[in-house]
Amino acid sequence: MAQQRRMGGQPLFILSEDSERTQGRDAQSSNIMAGKAVSESVRTTLGPRGMDKMLVDSSGNVVITNDGATILNEMDIEHPAAQMIVEVAQSQEDEVGDGTTTAAVIAGNLLAEAEALIEQDVHATTIVEGYHEAARIALEAIEDQVLPADVDDAVLTQVATSSMTGKGTGGLTPETLAETVVEAIRHVETDEGVDRDRVEIHTQVGASSSATELVPGIVLDEEPAHDDMPTTVENADIAILDVELGVRTGEIDAEYSIDSIDQLTAAIDAEEGELRQYAQQVIDSGVDVLFTTDDVDDRVASLLATEGILTFENISNTKARKVASATGARRVGALDDLSSDDFGHADRVRTETYGDDDLAFVEGGAAAEAVTVFVRGGTDHVADELERTITDALDVVATALDSGEVVPGAGATEIAIADAVRSAAAGIEGRKQLAVTAFADALDIVPRTLAGNSGQDPIDSLVDLRAAHESDGRAGLVTDGESVTIGDPVEHGVVDPADVKREAVESATEAATMIVRIDDVIAAE
Ligand code: ADP
Ligand code: MG
Repeated sequence: MAQQRRMGGQPLFILSEDSERTQGRDAQSSNIMAGKAVSESVRTTLGPRGMDKMLVDSSGNVVITNDGATILNEMDIEHPAAQMIVEVAQSQEDEVGDGTTTAAVIAGNLLAEAEALIEQDVHATTIVEGYHEAARIALEAIEDQVLPADVDDAVLTQVATSSMTGKGTGGLTPETLAETVVEAIRHVETDEGVDRDRVEIHTQVGASSSATELVPGIVLDEEPAHDDMPTTVENADIAILDVELGVRTGEIDAEYSIDSIDQLTAAIDAEEGELRQYAQQVIDSGVDVLFTTDDVDDRVASLLATEGILTFENISNTKARKVASATGARRVGALDDLSSDDFGHADRVRTETYGDDDLAFVEGGAAAEAVTVFVRGGTDHVADELERTITDALDVVATALDSGEVVPGAGATEIAIADAVRSAAAGIEGRKQLAVTAFADALDIVPRTLAGNSGQDPIDSLVDLRAAHESDGRAGLVTDGESVTIGDPVEHGVVDPADVKREAVESATEAATMIVRIDDVIAAE
């Protein structure tokens, strides 16, 4: 609908005829509805008993996942306010790597509470102020929940387990995988913190998930340049060449004017001699394993194979960099410059064939700790979801180790911060108090949803949880195998990084207040 103003009887168009405009309450309520709808869509996946979603895109590709960020990314969300909730999940994923569903669900419930306040004529600005005030109180309350104990391997394993419970683990127990995850992160711990980027994930479909293992190095999908090359080289000196080991393409194309068989033989001999010399230079350097970013002629490869030199050709720049940083090899741009000074080193380089795929493992690189979680799964879907699950677990363990702070999980932290915000609300004047209380009520969505998803009555559970929090100080809805009980999550090893909760409160508040503040939507065609 075009906007028009009248000026001296003439209509004045300020927007194009095709743009749409919604204002006031209508704009607010449609935005709030969209945001709520998105958050509602991931609610059933929250917690250890959360269900998975199957997402099918327009070309029929299927993703089966429990991961909030993945679900929201895969959904084709167009509404701009709904998109803001997607961004909440995305920033949660980027900042701390987990808690995406929690953040989206809290944001949605902050919107639902705001909608009720707007209906009671509380002004949007008051709601926004109240929410910001409440978020400050909530963040303080999170500090009080931080567990005093050191974040040691046992705690890290619990953090990893809590993050993987209820996720696609391909039939493995989260506990088994948790050990692999913690070991991986410990490998890349430095004085300056966790070097998370040095933990890679390589997914290989074909075996059952139980074959998932930690490789003490890097994994490349590369095959040897020649079938006769060794499949394993121990204690390997490694070189990286950015040189073609063949007769240069230009020379092949050049026209020879050959008049006799002798001349032909001579030309072939010259070529052979050249190739032989390349091979000899590599052999003389004393290298055991060669990576090149360019072609290696079959005849050169054959000669190298005879000498037991394992060679990989045409590797990408990225892979060359990875090999260099793991082994300490310096890349060499001319064959004449190849010398042991530029060699890197690894305890072992081996190649392995998995169905149609060939992989190279560079283990125990001398330069830097790098590890790869080698994820196996019987099918693409199992392996992909396992990869997402492990990625999240690696992120949370890194987050927990870096900050050294964990809080009780299973809804206990949310119950405690809601309680703190509710108590603080009593001291706040005016209508803002309503907004602060509403914020506390919104946080209840986490324990309520955990209850609902595990087949408990949400309202009864909430009442019981609050009572237990009142009397015992720490109470969550703990799922342990088949049983769901109210108890101390810490005793059951259910803990989450404090940063995951902080980020969830901050990003949910930010998105909800941004949406509430909008009262005019102007959309171009
Ligand atoms: P998110 O995307 O928010 O991380 P999850 O599906 O991973 O969503 O659920 C996380 C929630 O599940 C956290 O509140 C965490 O404390 C809780 N949780 C994890 N393990 C358990 C358990 N064994 N019992 C109860 N709650 C658990
Ligand atoms: Mg999680």
